[in-house]
Amino acid sequence: MTDRPLIQMSAPRRGKPPRHFADLTHDERIDTVREMGLPAFRAKQLETHYYTHLTVDPKEMTDLPAGGRDDLAAQMFPPLMSPLTSLVADGGATRKTLWTLHDGVKVESVLMKYPERATLCVTSQAGCGMACPFCATGQMGLTRNLSAAEIIEQVRLAARASRDGELGEPVRLSNVVFMGMGEPLANYKAVMQTVRALVAPEPHGFGLSARHVTVSTVGLVPAMDKLTKEGIPVTLALSLHAPDDELRNEIVPVNTRWTVDEALDAAYRFYEATGRRVSIEYALIRDMNDQAHRAAMLARKLRERGDGWVHVNPIPLNPTPGSKWTASDPEVEREFVHTLRDHGIPTTIRDTRGSDIDGACGQLAIKED
Ligand code: SAH
Repeated sequence: MTDRPLIQMSAPRRGKPPRHFADLTHDERIDTVREMGLPAFRAKQLETHYYTHLTVDPKEMTDLPAGGRDDLAAQMFPPLMSPLTSLVADGGATRKTLWTLHDGVKVESVLMKYPERATLCVTSQAGCGMACPFCATGQMGLTRNLSAAEIIEQVRLAARASRDGELGEPVRLSNVVFMGMGEPLANYKAVMQTVRALVAPEPHGFGLSARHVTVSTVGLVPAMDKLTKEGIPVTLALSLHAPDDELRNEIVPVNTRWTVDEALDAAYRFYEATGRRVSIEYALIRDMNDQAHRAAMLARKLRERGDGWVHVNPIPLNPTPGSKWTASDPEVEREFVHTLRDHGIPTTIRDTRGSDIDGACGQLAIKED
């Protein structure tokens, strides 16, 4: 007998979003401009407009022939999303935007400005199929996967907003974290296409440093191994939340398919292949997973795999509607951190932004009001 929520690994099939420039490879872009009777080099000009100038507006593309410019832009850049509402917090430095997609499906993303840079928390799926009971998105179920262009457009629009000083002084969008709605490794193809566009040098991509791109997962082991084989040194974050299977089966239901040890082994293989230190995410939930003995068990499991390969990012649980759980007491949180550090595990409490606009980790859920 089980009353556990059902995990949805594959997304319902729905009408596809229109094919967009950002979905295409460089060669497909060349084919498309040629089909429109234009020379191949127009593809590169469009890439410069999109990834470097961050524009899809034909009026800004003055190096293209005035005659066909509008048609070309209409063909290449069909509108994929429009902002419905925005909420700001942290004195204007955090902005959560609710987007509506071509089929009316809604998603959210969160842009966070720091003194010299900005970070986008990007959404890879509408809803999420992983059913973690402490996460608001997990309660929604999975509506559909986003296309690569739907994810990449979130990035372009955030990069543009950061550059144009919409969150204070102009800054560069330097970091992208796949910590918005959805399980990125359950939408593997579109997410990898996005990662490639993020790290490709301009004008073929946004030119971000791979280490500034964080892919966060509940621990889908086969997909983690696939990511390892890509050889792209992104930052991998594993949402562990418990060091023992008994508790993790409850709070991260996918643990019933891939255990704590299996997920940690896959994370270690990623470290071995890329040299990138893995982040272990751990939401501290009062009287659930915050005991010192669990911190010690976590430290032991990490240490037995090696030194210097991992750090732990505890985060006080953000409240979500209808959940009976709350964040750990600050005193308990401190002890948890100290226990990990005493056992030689680098540990930093994760910065949290936007909790008053339900824009913090695990709070993204679409409210129609
Ligand atoms: N599905 C991916 C990415 C989305 S969630 C994953 O689970 O990793 C991004 C992070 O926020 C994850 O570490 C997730 O466990 C955490 N999170 C979810 N709900 C939370 C909550 N209520 N409070 C704090 N963190 C939460």
